[in-house]
Formats: sequence, structure tokens, C-alpha cells
Amino acid sequence: MILLNPGPVSLSPRVRRALSESEDLCHREVEFADLTRDILQRLEGIYAGADDYAAVMLSGSGTCGVEAMLSTFAQKERPTLVVANGVYGERMAEMLRRQAKPLLLARAEWIEPIDLAQTRRLLDAHPDIARVAVVHHETTSGRLNSLAELAALCRERGIGLLIDAVSSFAGEDIPLADWQPLAVAGTANKCLHGVPGIACVLARQEVLETQALETQASQSTSLYLDLVGYYQEQRAGFSPFTQAVQAAQALRAALVEFAEQGGWRARRQTFQTRTDRIRALLAELGVASLLPARESSSMLTAYRMPEAFDYPALHDHLKARGFIIYAGQGQFNGRIFRIASMGEIGEADMARLEQGLREFFQKQAA
Ligand SMILES: *Cc1c(COP(=O)(O)O)cnc(C)c1O
Repeated sequence: MILLNPGPVSLSPRVRRALSESEDLCHREVEFADLTRDILQRLEGIYAGADDYAAVMLSGSGTCGVEAMLSTFAQKERPTLVVANGVYGERMAEMLRRQAKPLLLARAEWIEPIDLAQTRRLLDAHPDIARVAVVHHETTSGRLNSLAELAALCRERGIGLLIDAVSSFAGEDIPLADWQPLAVAGTANKCLHGVPGIACVLARQEVLETQALETQASQSTSLYLDLVGYYQEQRAGFSPFTQAVQAAQALRAALVEFAEQGGWRARRQTFQTRTDRIRALLAELGVASLLPARESSSMLTAYRMPEAFDYPALHDHLKARGFIIYAGQGQFNGRIFRIASMGEIGEADMARLEQGLREFFQKQAA
């Protein structure tokens, strides 16, 4: 099966082998510590400008990384402003509610860019805002949020910027030196092409160090999701709790392959080439994208479901041919469908996908 959903992805042979052929490891032994340090170093090496950042990894899906980032860095006494334009932004607001931390929400329509005017108004009205949380690639619509201006606002005001980059980490540019975020959350099983089970957060080392020194300064509402604890132990390669050992072995293989293939720039280009092909074909078949190409990410595009067609029929038609595509979420359900371009997808697969799409939209139109 070729997965065209936004993670998990179809595995490369090397990652699959790492899963099945690696040695059994105890997470308290030096072999696992070596593996951990290697993974963290590789994660810190993905983007230029990461000198002031430390990577932390923990076992769980992407949501686990985002929730740990908010648990560790969103403050208990001062509000976090969530800037949302989709499911994942609104999910961060829900996480803060569950953590009983003060929050404000600058919400935009899911089809719109993030609302900077509203954000500025809220920042002016609430000078005690300590953090801003935002999604980089809002997978709901496929929009790659442009964050430069928001990051500049945060820098000017000394506010810590927290980025959910789960579906863009390692597949789009994250200019750390320029944006200077406080933390960025990612996952193994999207653009990095690992297996589900490991999430990661890149965070300012200085802040992790300060929070580590003062237990009473801990803002974490959760023991498991406190990144400071992981940071302290992972400097020596160990973790406070059992890690997903096999997922870590697969992640290392994925990171080696990622570097050999040319890093995030090459990966973005691969995703973009596939996306452009599918977009052009669908346009020819009369299926419009939700957003213009220049506003979309490289790894996923959302398409409007034409009136005459029905999503479950499209899904089943492609599934029968070996492809999984993705429905719209929430208010978009039934109105859009999404096709991601991450993972191991060969030329023959692309050709079969094009044929499947052509058959579906031509046959039904006829
Ligand atoms: C996929 C995704 C997540 C997390 O998803 P999991 O199912 O927990 O792995 C979070 N944010 C964004 C933007 C995503 O695309």
C-alpha cells in the first residue's frame, strides 16, 4: 500500500530493515545511549542556526511532542496566545485548556492565512502574554503559514514562540536564526520518513538549562511530558522512561538516509515535484486545489471535491489500486480531499496513481 495521507508514510527498504533486523536493546544500556545521542545530533544538524538549540526526543506521536512543548514552556501564570487557522492550531488551544493554563486565541478561518492584525491587537491589549503558539504547516488546509512577521513580533516583545512543525520538520525551511523560536516540535513519521512512535522537540538550550536549575520554575503540568527531565538525562543518552527502542532504530536509519539524500532541501524538492504533477493532472481533470500553489506546502495539497463526485467513492477507488488518500477534517469533511507526497513513492507508483485519478474523474464525468 502506498500511503498518501499526512503520516505515517510508506517506508524505504532501509528503514524497514532497521525495524526488523536491529538488535534487541535495553534503554538503560550504553548501546541505546549511543543511539540516542546520534539521533539527537542528527536532529540538531538538520537546520542551520541550531547552535543555541538542543534536541529532545520522546516516545509518542507528533501530538505528544506538541503537548510536551506546551506542557514545558507555556506558562502557568501568564497567558499563551494561540494563533490558529486550522485543526492543529485549535488543538493547541485545547491542550492548554486541559493543562489549565491561561490562553488567548487569535482564530482565523481555516482557508485564510493566520490573522496578524488580530494577533497584534491581542498582544497590545495583553502585555502579559509570555508565549505565542502557532502551526507551521497547517495540515488541515495544506497551508504553509508564513511565520516571518509573527516571529519578528515575538522577538520585538521578548515573547517565546512555540511552533508545531510536526508536518514540516525536515521538509520545509525553518530558519531558526531568523525566527528564533523558543521551541519547535516535530515527529519521526512525516517528512523524516521514520516509523510512528518518536516525537522530537528542538528547544533553546539556555531555557532548558534555566528550567533545569530551578525545580520550582517548572511550568510542566505533566511528569511524562516535561522536556526538562528528558533534556537532563539525554545529555548522557538516557531517558527518564522507556523509549520506543525499535522506532528509534528506524529513526536513525531514516536520518542517515535523509542526510545521504541531501537533507531538507532535496526532500522538499522531491515532495514538490510529486505534488506539482498531481496538481497539474487534477487541474486538467477539472479538480481545483483549495489554495494556490504558492500558499501550499510541498508535502500536501488539499483539493475541492467536485459536486458530482463523492469522497468515499474516490477513496475506495484508489485504495483498490493500492493508494490511501486522506479526507477533510471537521468543517472540511466531505468537501475536500488531501493528497500527501511524503515517503517512499517510486515512478511506477506515481504513474499508477495518475492512471487511477484519471479513471475515476473521467469515468464518472462521462
Ligand atoms: C500530524 C500532525 C500532528 C500530530 O499528529 P499525530 O497523529 O499525533 O502524529 C500535529 N500537528 C500537525 C500540524 C500535524 O500535521
